[in-house]
Amino acid sequence: MMQRIGFGMDVHRLAPGESLWLGGILVPSDMGTVAHSDGDVLLHALCDALLGAAKLGDIGSNFPDTSDEFKNIDSKILLERSCQMVKARGWQVVNVDATLALQQPKVRPYIAEMETVMARIMGIDAGQVSVKATTTEKLGFEGRREGVTAYAVVLLAVANGW
Ligand code: MG
Repeated sequence: MMQRIGFGMDVHRLAPGESLWLGGILVPSDMGTVAHSDGDVLLHALCDALLGAAKLGDIGSNFPDTSDEFKNIDSKILLERSCQMVKARGWQVVNVDATLALQQPKVRPYIAEMETVMARIMGIDAGQVSVKATTTEKLGFEGRREGVTAYAVVLLAVANGW
């Protein structure tokens, strides 16, 4: 089996006065995520996609939010560690495709930087990372600005297997 696909999703609550980290970028916003870590839903969904593709459990089993080690941790470190675990099993990341669902703020101006940061952490080219964003037409918890959701899909291939 030369390729594996992985899927991840994550949700965090939004509250006033919190920071909004998305894709490793601090996005200016009147509301941010409430979390044990920095609450970066996009990186958390990506970690789950990577770990899932390699059948290595999930972010909760590998980096428990009950552990002080991971309190307020920079999610870029979680992504780096997840990626190291995947690579240690002989996989390379072919591409990432992700979608953010949130009503506000508009994140389009930050997407290219998110892709660059995520690619750098994974040791791949920014051309292999796609981040998209959508509102939910003011429907549901994202539309009411109660929370933000991220979805990510990853394709892995055997390293040097092409
Ligand atoms: Mg999370």
